[in-house]
Amino acid sequence: AKKNGKNGAVGYRPDMAAAAEAEFGLQRELADALARQDIVVYYQPKFTAASRALSGAEALVRWLHPQQGLIPPDRFIPAAERSGQIEALEIHVLDTVCAQIRRWLDAGFDVPRISVNLSAGRVSDSGLPARVQQCLDSHGVPSRYLMFEITETVAIQGMLQAVDTLKQFARMGVDVALDDFGTGHSSLSYLEKLPIQQLKIDRSFIGALTDGTSQQSAIVRSIVALAHSLDLAVVAEGVETEDQLRYIVELECDEMQGFLFSHAVPADAFADFMRDASRA
Ligand code: C2E
Ligand code: CA
Ligand code: CA
Ligand code: CA
Repeated sequence: AKKNGKNGAVGYRPDMAAAAEAEFGLQRELADALARQDIVVYYQPKFTAASRALSGAEALVRWLHPQQGLIPPDRFIPAAERSGQIEALEIHVLDTVCAQIRRWLDAGFDVPRISVNLSAGRVSDSGLPARVQQCLDSHGVPSRYLMFEITETVAIQGMLQAVDTLKQFARMGVDVALDDFGTGHSSLSYLEKLPIQQLKIDRSFIGALTDGTSQQSAIVRSIVALAHSLDLAVVAEGVETEDQLRYIVELECDEMQGFLFSHAVPADAFADFMRDASRA
């Protein structure tokens, strides 16, 4: 808590009460939304950079609010993290994704790997790997169809527990990507200690790729070189223009994702991407 003044007490302000009330309202509504199945998962396709073939999808949660319409995750994930509801929310997302993968497999689709975001703190939950295995088993989904994305902060804050969790995922055959790479303040030396398979370069770097000789392209180039020397695949996220596409292919990124190809779409629309891929 913030400390103000000599006595260390925080002065009462009406706007703080309003904010607290709004937060509690959000918590209640989120609990209702989870119960009512208003929390849905959209899928953003990922492609191989060199061939443009479909290579996977990122599962991104959305709240279909009955009055407010579609609410993006940035407006409720942070509150869910503060209230502890993030655990229920992520189990819901995981369960939804595994059930969906099973339906796609049953329908005969060649399903690529689907990645699920894990929030800060969740990686240090020692019960998580067993929970994940249980979810895969209950839906009859082989582990190669699932992977996780975690951010640098997660990995650094709970380094010891994170390494343990990541090792268990590796043993289970569930890959892990380090998300938003380049935005944290990590030293690169810890990278080789993390049992992960992918680096996702943060979209701020990709957005800044305006010409092939800029400082940003030198940064991306060195991230790719580092990742490849550690046997990690590199994913460029937030690809919005043909120019950026050209640069990331030139810089030898392995996979790509962004509005240039597709926004995150409902499951049925993602099935069309799988259908097209199998016809190609
Ligand atoms: P993220 O993991 O970095 O996810 C990528 C975000 O970038 C998504 O926003 C996606 O729609 C957006 N994006 C994709 N391509 C482009 C592009 O070309 N340009 C731009 N400007 N943006 C692009 P979204 O879906 O609003 O998700 C925001 C964040 O919410 C995610 O960032 C992730 O941190 C969090 N999130 C989403 N779903 C989940 C979830 O199931 N669990 C947890 N813990 N976090 C989630
Ligand atoms: Ca992500
Ligand atoms: Ca990201
Ligand atoms: Ca992010």
